[in-house]
Amino acid sequence: MTKSNGEEPKMGGRMERFQQGVRKRTLLAKKKVQNITKEDVKSYLFRNAFVLLTVTAVIVGMAALDSKASGKMGMRAVLYYMTTTIIAVVIGIIIVMIIHPGKGTKENMHREGKIVQVTAADAFLDLIRNMFPPNLVEACFKQFKTNYEKRSIKVPIQSNETLVGAVVNNVSEAMETLSKITEELVPVPGSVNGINALGLVVFSMCFGFVIGNMKEQGQALKDFFDSLNEAIMRLVAVIMWYAPLGILFLIAGKIVEMEDMGVIGGQLAMYTVTVIVGLLIHAVIVLPLLYFLVTRKNPWVFIGGLLQALITALGTSSSSATLPITFKCLEENNGVDKRVTRFVLPVGATINMDGTALYEALAAIFIAQVNNFELNFGQIITISITATAASIGAAGIPQAGLVTMVIVLTSVGLPTDDITLIIAVDWFLDRLRTTTNVLGDSLGAGIVEHLSRHELKNRDVEMGNSVIEE
Ligand code: ASP
Repeated sequence: MTKSNGEEPKMGGRMERFQQGVRKRTLLAKKKVQNITKEDVKSYLFRNAFVLLTVTAVIVGMAALDSKASGKMGMRAVLYYMTTTIIAVVIGIIIVMIIHPGKGTKENMHREGKIVQVTAADAFLDLIRNMFPPNLVEACFKQFKTNYEKRSIKVPIQSNETLVGAVVNNVSEAMETLSKITEELVPVPGSVNGINALGLVVFSMCFGFVIGNMKEQGQALKDFFDSLNEAIMRLVAVIMWYAPLGILFLIAGKIVEMEDMGVIGGQLAMYTVTVIVGLLIHAVIVLPLLYFLVTRKNPWVFIGGLLQALITALGTSSSSATLPITFKCLEENNGVDKRVTRFVLPVGATINMDGTALYEALAAIFIAQVNNFELNFGQIITISITATAASIGAAGIPQAGLVTMVIVLTSVGLPTDDITLIIAVDWFLDRLRTTTNVLGDSLGAGIVEHLSRHELKNRDVEMGNSVIEE
Protein backbone atom coordinates (compact mmCIF):
# COMPACT_ATOMS: atom_id res chain seq x y z
CA MET A 1 0.00 0.00 0.00
CA THR A 2 1.44 3.40 -0.97
CA LYS A 3 1.16 6.67 0.90
CA SER A 4 0.88 8.65 -2.37
CA ASN A 5 -2.80 7.82 -2.64
CA GLY A 6 -4.80 9.80 -0.06
CA GLU A 7 -7.70 7.29 0.13
CA GLU A 8 -5.71 4.10 0.64
CA PRO A 9 -4.13 4.60 4.08
CA LYS A 10 -7.61 5.24 5.55
CA MET A 11 -9.03 2.12 3.91
CA GLY A 12 -5.89 0.18 4.81
CA GLY A 13 -6.13 1.35 8.43
CA ARG A 14 -9.76 0.34 8.65
CA MET A 15 -9.01 -3.01 7.06
CA GLU A 16 -6.09 -3.58 9.41
CA ARG A 17 -8.20 -2.71 12.45
CA PHE A 18 -10.89 -5.07 11.21
CA GLN A 19 -8.33 -7.86 10.74
CA GLN A 20 -6.83 -7.17 14.16
CA GLY A 21 -10.29 -7.39 15.68
CA VAL A 22 -10.93 -10.70 13.95
CA ARG A 23 -7.60 -12.05 15.18
CA LYS A 24 -8.30 -10.94 18.74
CA ARG A 25 -11.77 -12.49 18.75
CA THR A 26 -10.43 -15.67 17.18
CA LEU A 27 -7.77 -15.98 19.85
CA LEU A 28 -10.30 -15.37 22.61
CA ALA A 29 -12.70 -17.93 21.16
CA LYS A 30 -9.83 -20.37 20.76
CA LYS A 31 -8.89 -19.94 24.41
CA LYS A 32 -12.48 -20.38 25.57
CA VAL A 33 -13.04 -23.53 23.52
CA GLN A 34 -9.69 -24.93 24.59
CA ASN A 35 -10.38 -24.29 28.24
CA ILE A 36 -13.76 -25.96 28.10
CA THR A 37 -12.59 -28.95 26.10
CA LYS A 38 -9.33 -29.43 27.94
CA GLU A 39 -10.56 -29.13 31.46
CA ASP A 40 -14.06 -30.50 31.23
CA VAL A 41 -14.03 -33.08 28.48
CA LYS A 42 -10.49 -34.35 28.21
CA SER A 43 -9.19 -34.30 31.74
CA TYR A 44 -12.38 -35.24 33.52
CA LEU A 45 -14.44 -37.53 31.36
CA PHE A 46 -11.68 -39.25 29.46
CA ARG A 47 -9.39 -39.66 32.42
CA ASN A 48 -12.15 -41.39 34.36
CA ALA A 49 -13.31 -43.39 31.38
CA PHE A 50 -9.79 -44.51 30.56
CA VAL A 51 -9.02 -45.73 34.06
CA LEU A 52 -12.32 -47.61 34.34
CA LEU A 53 -12.13 -49.03 30.84
CA THR A 54 -8.61 -50.38 31.21
CA VAL A 55 -9.05 -51.69 34.71
CA THR A 56 -12.39 -53.41 34.10
CA ALA A 57 -11.40 -54.83 30.71
CA VAL A 58 -8.21 -56.42 32.03
CA ILE A 59 -9.93 -57.76 35.16
CA VAL A 60 -12.80 -59.21 33.11
CA GLY A 61 -10.38 -60.74 30.60
CA MET A 62 -8.19 -62.33 33.25
CA ALA A 63 -11.07 -63.46 35.46
CA ALA A 64 -12.71 -65.31 32.57
CA LEU A 65 -9.77 -67.70 32.36
CA ASP A 66 -8.21 -70.16 34.75
CA SER A 67 -4.57 -69.76 35.68
CA LYS A 68 -3.38 -72.34 33.14
CA ALA A 69 -5.27 -70.76 30.26
CA SER A 70 -4.32 -67.19 31.15
CA GLY A 71 -0.68 -68.19 31.59
CA LYS A 72 -0.56 -69.84 28.18
CA MET A 73 -2.46 -67.02 26.53
CA GLY A 74 -0.16 -64.47 28.13
CA MET A 75 2.92 -66.32 26.89
CA ARG A 76 1.53 -66.46 23.37
CA ALA A 77 0.65 -62.77 23.40
CA VAL A 78 4.11 -61.79 24.64
CA LEU A 79 5.76 -64.05 22.04
CA TYR A 80 3.68 -62.43 19.30
CA TYR A 81 4.44 -58.91 20.60
CA MET A 82 8.18 -59.54 20.71
CA THR A 83 8.35 -61.24 17.29
CA THR A 84 6.38 -58.56 15.45
CA THR A 85 8.15 -55.68 17.22
CA ILE A 86 11.58 -57.07 16.31
CA ILE A 87 10.52 -57.65 12.69
CA ALA A 88 9.23 -54.04 12.59
CA VAL A 89 12.54 -52.70 13.92
CA VAL A 90 14.51 -54.70 11.33
CA ILE A 91 12.28 -53.41 8.50
CA GLY A 92 12.79 -49.83 9.73
CA ILE A 93 16.57 -50.25 9.79
CA ILE A 94 16.78 -51.88 6.35
CA ILE A 95 14.48 -49.35 4.68
CA VAL A 96 16.25 -46.27 6.07
CA MET A 97 19.62 -47.72 5.03
CA ILE A 98 18.43 -48.44 1.50
CA ILE A 99 16.59 -45.15 0.86
CA HIS A 100 19.09 -43.08 2.89
CA PRO A 101 16.85 -40.02 3.33
CA GLY A 102 19.39 -38.18 5.51
CA LYS A 103 21.84 -37.25 2.77
CA GLY A 104 23.41 -33.81 3.16
CA THR A 105 23.64 -31.91 6.41
CA LYS A 106 21.15 -30.92 9.07
CA GLU A 107 21.99 -27.24 8.53
CA ASN A 108 19.61 -27.34 5.53
CA MET A 109 16.79 -28.49 7.73
CA HIS A 110 14.07 -26.61 9.55
CA ARG A 111 13.91 -26.93 13.35
CA GLU A 112 10.86 -26.80 15.61
CA GLY A 113 10.47 -26.53 19.40
CA LYS A 114 12.86 -28.00 21.96
CA ILE A 115 13.17 -31.33 23.74
CA VAL A 116 13.45 -32.18 27.41
CA GLN A 117 16.61 -34.07 28.33
CA VAL A 118 16.42 -37.41 30.11
CA THR A 119 18.87 -40.27 30.36
CA ALA A 120 18.16 -43.79 29.14
CA ALA A 121 18.77 -45.20 32.65
CA ASP A 122 16.18 -42.84 34.15
CA ALA A 123 13.63 -43.85 31.55
CA PHE A 124 14.21 -47.58 32.11
CA LEU A 125 14.01 -47.29 35.90
CA ASP A 126 10.81 -45.25 35.69
CA LEU A 127 9.30 -47.91 33.47
CA ILE A 128 9.98 -50.65 36.02
CA ARG A 129 8.86 -48.52 38.97
CA ASN A 130 5.64 -47.64 37.18
CA MET A 131 4.86 -51.31 36.61
CA PHE A 132 4.61 -51.87 40.36
CA PRO A 133 3.07 -48.80 41.98
CA PRO A 134 2.88 -48.79 45.78
CA ASN A 135 -0.91 -48.74 45.60
CA LEU A 136 -3.72 -48.57 43.09
CA VAL A 137 -5.07 -45.18 44.07
CA GLU A 138 -1.65 -43.66 43.67
CA ALA A 139 -1.35 -45.26 40.25
CA CYS A 140 -4.47 -43.41 39.13
CA PHE A 141 -3.12 -40.01 39.98
CA LYS A 142 0.60 -40.15 40.07
CA GLN A 143 3.48 -41.71 38.19
CA PHE A 144 7.17 -41.86 38.90
CA LYS A 145 9.26 -39.50 36.91
CA THR A 146 12.85 -38.57 37.01
CA ASN A 147 14.12 -35.39 35.40
CA TYR A 148 10.99 -34.93 33.35
CA GLU A 149 9.21 -31.67 32.83
CA LYS A 150 5.98 -30.97 31.02
CA ARG A 151 6.43 -31.77 27.39
CA SER A 152 7.82 -28.82 25.51
CA ILE A 153 7.98 -30.21 22.00
CA LYS A 154 5.29 -28.20 20.37
CA VAL A 155 5.04 -26.65 16.97
CA PRO A 156 4.80 -22.91 17.61
CA ILE A 157 1.35 -21.45 17.01
CA GLN A 158 1.34 -19.57 13.72
CA SER A 159 -0.26 -16.21 13.27
CA ASN A 160 -3.47 -16.51 11.32
CA GLU A 161 -2.83 -14.46 8.22
CA THR A 162 -6.17 -14.84 6.56
CA LEU A 163 -9.72 -14.99 7.82
CA VAL A 164 -10.18 -18.46 6.29
CA GLY A 165 -6.93 -19.56 7.91
CA ALA A 166 -8.11 -18.19 11.24
CA VAL A 167 -11.44 -20.01 11.10
CA VAL A 168 -9.94 -23.30 9.93
CA ASN A 169 -7.16 -23.09 12.50
CA ASN A 170 -9.60 -22.23 15.24
CA VAL A 171 -11.98 -25.08 14.55
CA SER A 172 -9.17 -27.51 13.87
CA GLU A 173 -7.45 -26.65 17.15
CA ALA A 174 -10.65 -27.21 19.05
CA MET A 175 -11.12 -30.52 17.29
CA GLU A 176 -7.50 -31.38 17.90
CA THR A 177 -7.97 -30.84 21.61
CA LEU A 178 -11.01 -33.07 21.55
CA SER A 179 -9.55 -35.57 19.17
CA LYS A 180 -6.22 -35.99 20.88
CA ILE A 181 -7.99 -36.00 24.25
CA THR A 182 -4.66 -36.32 25.96
CA GLU A 183 -2.91 -33.24 24.67
CA GLU A 184 -0.78 -31.93 27.50
CA LEU A 185 0.91 -35.05 28.64
CA VAL A 186 3.66 -35.68 31.03
CA PRO A 187 6.07 -37.84 29.03
CA VAL A 188 6.64 -40.68 31.42
CA PRO A 189 7.12 -44.21 30.06
CA GLY A 190 3.91 -46.17 30.51
CA SER A 191 1.79 -43.19 31.53
CA VAL A 192 -1.36 -41.88 29.87
CA ASN A 193 -2.40 -38.32 30.57
CA GLY A 194 -0.68 -38.38 33.94
CA ILE A 195 -2.15 -41.77 34.83
CA ASN A 196 0.20 -44.65 35.43
CA ALA A 197 -1.35 -46.93 32.79
CA LEU A 198 1.27 -49.64 33.08
CA GLY A 199 0.84 -49.88 36.85
CA LEU A 200 -2.92 -50.13 36.47
CA VAL A 201 -2.62 -52.87 33.85
CA VAL A 202 -0.23 -54.92 36.00
CA PHE A 203 -2.43 -54.53 39.08
CA SER A 204 -5.61 -55.39 37.16
CA MET A 205 -3.96 -58.50 35.73
CA CYS A 206 -3.11 -59.72 39.23
CA PHE A 207 -6.59 -58.88 40.55
CA GLY A 208 -8.35 -60.54 37.60
CA PHE A 209 -6.11 -63.58 37.95
CA VAL A 210 -7.16 -64.00 41.60
CA ILE A 211 -10.89 -63.59 40.82
CA GLY A 212 -10.58 -66.06 37.96
CA ASN A 213 -9.30 -68.71 40.31
CA MET A 214 -11.92 -68.15 43.03
CA LYS A 215 -14.64 -70.26 41.35
CA GLU A 216 -18.17 -69.56 42.76
CA GLN A 217 -16.91 -67.16 45.41
CA GLY A 218 -15.55 -64.85 42.74
CA GLN A 219 -18.72 -64.88 40.64
CA ALA A 220 -20.26 -61.73 42.17
CA LEU A 221 -17.09 -59.73 41.53
CA LYS A 222 -16.81 -61.14 38.02
CA ASP A 223 -20.38 -60.08 37.22
CA PHE A 224 -19.82 -56.66 38.75
CA PHE A 225 -16.72 -55.88 36.65
CA ASP A 226 -18.36 -57.38 33.58
CA SER A 227 -21.32 -55.01 33.70
CA LEU A 228 -19.17 -52.03 34.73
CA ASN A 229 -16.98 -52.71 31.72
CA GLU A 230 -20.02 -52.88 29.44
CA ALA A 231 -21.37 -49.57 30.80
CA ILE A 232 -18.08 -47.76 30.36
CA MET A 233 -17.70 -49.08 26.80
CA ARG A 234 -21.05 -47.53 25.94
CA LEU A 235 -20.10 -44.22 27.52
CA VAL A 236 -16.80 -43.97 25.66
CA ALA A 237 -18.49 -44.95 22.39
CA VAL A 238 -20.58 -41.78 22.71
CA ILE A 239 -17.47 -39.64 23.22
CA MET A 240 -15.94 -41.03 20.05
CA TRP A 241 -18.67 -39.93 17.63
CA TYR A 242 -16.78 -36.83 16.54
CA ALA A 243 -13.75 -38.73 15.23
CA PRO A 244 -14.39 -38.44 11.45
CA LEU A 245 -15.20 -34.72 11.74
CA GLY A 246 -12.07 -34.21 13.81
CA ILE A 247 -9.83 -35.79 11.18
CA LEU A 248 -11.20 -33.50 8.49
CA PHE A 249 -10.58 -30.28 10.42
CA LEU A 250 -7.26 -31.43 11.78
CA ILE A 251 -5.83 -32.07 8.37
CA ALA A 252 -7.23 -28.82 6.95
CA GLY A 253 -5.70 -26.91 9.89
CA LYS A 254 -2.33 -28.57 9.51
CA ILE A 255 -2.18 -27.75 5.81
CA VAL A 256 -2.75 -24.08 6.64
CA GLU A 257 0.03 -24.32 9.27
CA MET A 258 2.38 -25.99 6.81
CA GLU A 259 1.87 -23.16 4.32
CA ASP A 260 2.72 -20.66 7.03
CA MET A 261 5.85 -22.57 7.88
CA GLY A 262 7.26 -22.42 4.37
CA VAL A 263 9.03 -25.26 2.61
CA ILE A 264 10.04 -28.31 4.58
CA GLY A 265 13.47 -29.60 3.67
CA GLY A 266 13.85 -32.17 0.90
CA GLN A 267 15.43 -34.54 3.42
CA LEU A 268 12.34 -34.35 5.59
CA ALA A 269 10.13 -35.17 2.61
CA MET A 270 12.31 -38.19 1.81
CA TYR A 271 12.25 -39.17 5.47
CA THR A 272 8.43 -39.05 5.45
CA VAL A 273 8.34 -41.28 2.37
CA THR A 274 10.79 -43.72 3.99
CA VAL A 275 8.64 -44.02 7.13
CA ILE A 276 5.52 -44.56 5.01
CA VAL A 277 7.23 -47.31 2.98
CA GLY A 278 8.47 -49.06 6.13
CA LEU A 279 5.08 -48.92 7.85
CA LEU A 280 3.31 -50.12 4.70
CA ILE A 281 5.62 -53.14 4.37
CA HIS A 282 4.94 -54.09 7.97
CA ALA A 283 1.19 -53.41 7.94
CA VAL A 284 0.28 -54.65 4.47
CA ILE A 285 2.73 -57.54 4.00
CA VAL A 286 4.30 -58.81 7.24
CA LEU A 287 1.36 -58.70 9.68
CA PRO A 288 -1.30 -60.12 7.31
CA LEU A 289 1.15 -62.85 6.19
CA LEU A 290 1.85 -63.81 9.79
CA TYR A 291 -1.88 -63.94 10.52
CA PHE A 292 -2.42 -66.15 7.49
CA LEU A 293 0.48 -68.50 8.32
CA VAL A 294 -0.78 -69.07 11.86
CA THR A 295 -4.56 -69.15 11.37
CA ARG A 296 -4.88 -70.16 7.69
CA LYS A 297 -7.69 -67.62 7.45
CA ASN A 298 -7.99 -64.68 5.05
CA PRO A 299 -6.33 -61.68 6.79
CA TRP A 300 -8.12 -59.16 4.57
CA VAL A 301 -11.53 -60.25 5.74
CA PHE A 302 -10.29 -59.79 9.31
CA ILE A 303 -8.76 -56.38 8.52
CA GLY A 304 -12.00 -55.35 6.78
CA GLY A 305 -13.78 -55.78 10.11
CA LEU A 306 -11.25 -53.45 11.74
CA LEU A 307 -11.80 -50.48 9.46
CA GLN A 308 -13.55 -48.29 12.03
CA ALA A 309 -10.78 -48.85 14.58
CA LEU A 310 -8.08 -48.09 12.01
CA ILE A 311 -9.78 -44.83 10.99
CA THR A 312 -10.16 -43.86 14.65
CA ALA A 313 -6.46 -44.55 15.23
CA LEU A 314 -5.65 -42.33 12.25
CA GLY A 315 -7.85 -39.60 13.67
CA THR A 316 -6.83 -39.69 17.33
CA SER A 317 -3.11 -40.69 17.09
CA SER A 318 -3.75 -42.71 20.21
CA SER A 319 -4.02 -46.49 20.61
CA SER A 320 -5.50 -45.99 24.08
CA ALA A 321 -8.24 -43.64 22.87
CA THR A 322 -9.01 -46.11 20.06
CA LEU A 323 -9.32 -49.04 22.48
CA PRO A 324 -13.15 -49.05 22.82
CA ILE A 325 -13.55 -49.09 19.04
CA THR A 326 -10.93 -51.83 18.71
CA PHE A 327 -12.92 -53.95 21.19
CA LYS A 328 -16.10 -53.33 19.26
CA CYS A 329 -14.60 -54.19 15.86
CA LEU A 330 -12.94 -57.38 17.07
CA GLU A 331 -15.88 -58.66 19.09
CA GLU A 332 -18.81 -57.58 16.95
CA ASN A 333 -17.39 -57.67 13.42
CA ASN A 334 -14.76 -60.40 13.69
CA GLY A 335 -16.34 -62.50 16.43
CA VAL A 336 -13.17 -62.73 18.53
CA ASP A 337 -13.79 -64.25 21.97
CA LYS A 338 -14.27 -61.58 24.67
CA ARG A 339 -12.00 -63.50 27.03
CA VAL A 340 -9.19 -62.93 24.56
CA THR A 341 -9.89 -59.32 23.59
CA ARG A 342 -10.43 -58.08 27.15
CA PHE A 343 -7.19 -59.68 28.22
CA VAL A 344 -4.94 -59.09 25.21
CA LEU A 345 -6.02 -55.67 23.85
CA PRO A 346 -5.47 -53.35 26.85
CA VAL A 347 -2.05 -54.88 27.41
CA GLY A 348 -1.28 -54.64 23.68
CA ALA A 349 -2.37 -50.98 23.52
CA THR A 350 0.07 -50.23 26.34
CA ILE A 351 3.12 -52.27 25.35
CA ASN A 352 2.82 -53.63 21.79
CA MET A 353 3.68 -50.90 19.30
CA ASP A 354 5.14 -52.18 16.06
CA GLY A 355 4.69 -48.89 14.24
CA THR A 356 6.42 -46.96 17.02
CA ALA A 357 9.32 -49.45 17.20
CA LEU A 358 9.86 -49.26 13.45
CA TYR A 359 9.64 -45.49 13.60
CA GLU A 360 12.09 -45.08 16.48
CA ALA A 361 14.80 -47.20 14.84
CA LEU A 362 14.31 -45.53 11.48
CA ALA A 363 14.27 -42.01 12.93
CA ALA A 364 17.42 -42.62 14.99
CA ILE A 365 19.33 -43.80 11.91
CA PHE A 366 17.97 -40.84 9.93
CA ILE A 367 19.33 -38.48 12.59
CA ALA A 368 22.69 -40.29 12.37
CA GLN A 369 22.63 -39.81 8.61
CA VAL A 370 21.96 -36.05 8.73
CA ASN A 371 24.85 -35.75 11.21
CA ASN A 372 27.15 -37.77 8.92
CA PHE A 373 27.54 -40.13 11.86
CA GLU A 374 28.73 -43.59 10.75
CA LEU A 375 27.03 -46.30 12.79
CA ASN A 376 28.86 -49.60 13.31
CA PHE A 377 27.17 -52.98 13.60
CA GLY A 378 27.18 -52.90 17.41
CA GLN A 379 25.47 -49.51 17.41
CA ILE A 380 22.80 -50.76 15.02
CA ILE A 381 22.10 -53.70 17.36
CA THR A 382 21.92 -51.22 20.26
CA ILE A 383 19.40 -49.16 18.28
CA SER A 384 17.27 -52.28 17.64
CA ILE A 385 17.21 -53.19 21.33
CA THR A 386 16.53 -49.68 22.62
CA ALA A 387 13.90 -49.03 19.92
CA THR A 388 12.08 -52.16 21.11
CA ALA A 389 12.31 -50.99 24.73
CA ALA A 390 11.29 -47.43 23.81
CA SER A 391 8.19 -48.71 22.00
CA ILE A 392 7.20 -50.75 25.08
CA GLY A 393 7.74 -47.66 27.24
CA ALA A 394 5.77 -45.34 24.96
CA ALA A 395 2.19 -44.89 26.12
CA GLY A 396 -0.68 -45.16 23.65
CA ILE A 397 -1.03 -41.41 23.38
CA PRO A 398 -0.22 -38.83 20.69
CA GLN A 399 3.50 -38.35 20.05
CA ALA A 400 4.62 -40.52 22.96
CA GLY A 401 7.09 -42.19 20.60
CA LEU A 402 8.84 -38.90 20.01
CA VAL A 403 9.53 -38.59 23.73
CA THR A 404 10.82 -42.12 24.32
CA MET A 405 13.10 -41.70 21.31
CA VAL A 406 15.48 -39.97 23.69
CA ILE A 407 16.34 -43.46 25.01
CA VAL A 408 17.37 -44.65 21.53
CA LEU A 409 19.41 -41.57 20.68
CA THR A 410 21.31 -41.41 23.96
CA SER A 411 22.17 -45.12 23.78
CA VAL A 412 24.40 -44.50 20.75
CA GLY A 413 25.46 -40.95 21.57
CA LEU A 414 23.31 -39.12 19.02
CA PRO A 415 22.19 -35.55 19.83
CA THR A 416 18.72 -35.65 21.41
CA ASP A 417 18.15 -32.05 20.30
CA ASP A 418 17.89 -33.33 16.76
CA ILE A 419 14.45 -34.73 17.54
CA THR A 420 13.38 -31.17 16.80
CA LEU A 421 14.30 -31.76 13.15
CA ILE A 422 11.46 -34.23 12.70
CA ILE A 423 8.77 -32.61 14.84
CA ALA A 424 7.28 -30.76 11.87
CA VAL A 425 6.07 -33.99 10.25
CA ASP A 426 5.32 -35.96 13.40
CA TRP A 427 1.63 -34.96 13.56
CA PHE A 428 1.22 -36.93 10.34
CA LEU A 429 3.61 -39.84 10.90
CA ASP A 430 2.21 -40.38 14.40
CA ARG A 431 -1.18 -41.12 12.85
CA LEU A 432 0.31 -43.73 10.55
CA ARG A 433 2.34 -45.48 13.23
CA THR A 434 -0.66 -45.48 15.61
CA THR A 435 -2.77 -47.15 12.88
CA THR A 436 -0.02 -49.77 12.48
CA ASN A 437 0.05 -50.24 16.28
CA VAL A 438 -3.71 -50.85 16.43
CA LEU A 439 -3.53 -53.24 13.47
CA GLY A 440 -0.73 -55.18 15.21
CA ASP A 441 -2.73 -55.45 18.46
CA SER A 442 -5.86 -56.57 16.62
CA LEU A 443 -4.22 -59.21 14.43
CA GLY A 444 -2.41 -60.36 17.57
CA ALA A 445 -5.76 -60.90 19.31
CA GLY A 446 -6.92 -62.99 16.33
CA ILE A 447 -3.72 -65.07 16.41
CA VAL A 448 -3.83 -65.59 20.20
CA GLU A 449 -7.48 -66.64 19.99
CA HIS A 450 -6.65 -69.18 17.30
CA LEU A 451 -3.73 -70.62 19.27
CA SER A 452 -5.77 -70.75 22.49
CA ARG A 453 -8.93 -72.30 21.05
CA HIS A 454 -8.45 -75.61 22.93
CA GLU A 455 -8.03 -73.97 26.35
CA LEU A 456 -11.05 -71.75 25.68
CA LYS A 457 -13.15 -74.76 24.75
CA ASN A 458 -12.02 -76.69 27.83
CA ARG A 459 -12.89 -73.74 30.03
CA ASP A 460 -16.36 -73.57 28.42
CA VAL A 461 -16.92 -77.27 29.17
CA GLU A 462 -15.73 -76.75 32.74
CA MET A 463 -18.06 -73.79 33.27
CA GLY A 464 -20.98 -75.52 31.55
CA ASN A 465 -21.16 -72.91 28.75
CA SER A 466 -22.46 -73.99 25.34
CA VAL A 467 -19.51 -74.81 23.07
CA ILE A 468 -19.60 -73.67 19.47
CA GLU A 469 -17.85 -76.16 17.23
CA GLU A 470 -15.59 -74.72 14.52
N1 ASP B 1 0.70 -42.32 19.23
C1 ASP B 1 1.17 -43.67 19.32
C2 ASP B 1 0.07 -44.57 19.86
O1 ASP B 1 -0.78 -44.13 20.57
C3 ASP B 1 2.41 -43.79 20.14
C4 ASP B 1 3.53 -43.08 19.44
O2 ASP B 1 3.69 -41.90 19.63
O3 ASP B 1 4.22 -43.72 18.66
O4 ASP B 1 0.03 -45.73 19.58
